[in-house]
Amino acid sequence: MNFLEERILKDGIVKPGNVLKVDSFLNHQMDIGLMEQIGAEFKRRFADKPVTKVLTIEASGIGIACFVAREFGVPMVFAKKSKSINIEGEMYVAEVESFTHKNKNQVIVSKKFLGPEDHVLIIDDFLANGCALQGLISISESAGATVEGLGIVIEKGFQIGGTVIRNLGYDLESLAIVDAMDPETGTITFREQ
Ligand code: 5GP
Repeated sequence: MNFLEERILKDGIVKPGNVLKVDSFLNHQMDIGLMEQIGAEFKRRFADKPVTKVLTIEASGIGIACFVAREFGVPMVFAKKSKSINIEGEMYVAEVESFTHKNKNQVIVSKKFLGPEDHVLIIDDFLANGCALQGLISISESAGATVEGLGIVIEKGFQIGGTVIRNLGYDLESLAIVDAMDPETGTITFREQ
């Protein structure tokens, strides 16, 4: 069992509706020592990739992506959620359905910060159905950038996202893959990696 799986078992809480709550160490209060370990582990896994930008989506990906960008010595760019419609031209736009809030948001990245010369490492905290990752892939493609890989802290392997993204041919690395979780007993089962 790796450092993250141990922490999920210790402090993760299984909620009804296929939601794993990790807000005591990952996405509300953040354990900075753990963030450093996560950053270093993604650097190790994508060491051979010529990454020029780390790309994530607000809000919960930002903290993690900072630590990854620090390891690679490159900028971190985050896609912003936007209600504005008058943004075509200066921005790349994608539509993303939120797994946790069940609403759709336009997410935008300024053309100033992503272009054809970029080699992108996409980072997020969770992978469920893959909408957030597909939005970030779409933005990278609009920019003409190369997606070098995708790094996820916790993949819920019983939801479809991981299969979809891997079938598209992307290099997807998840630090922990939850294959099953039970809100009644609190049991969490990880995939052997
Ligand atoms: P997807 O777009 O893959 O369906 O969902 C991924 C996004 O939804 C992530 O950015 C994450 O913020 C949120 N998310 C999905 N599942 C969970 C979960 O079980 N727990 C938490 N805390 N966030 C989740």
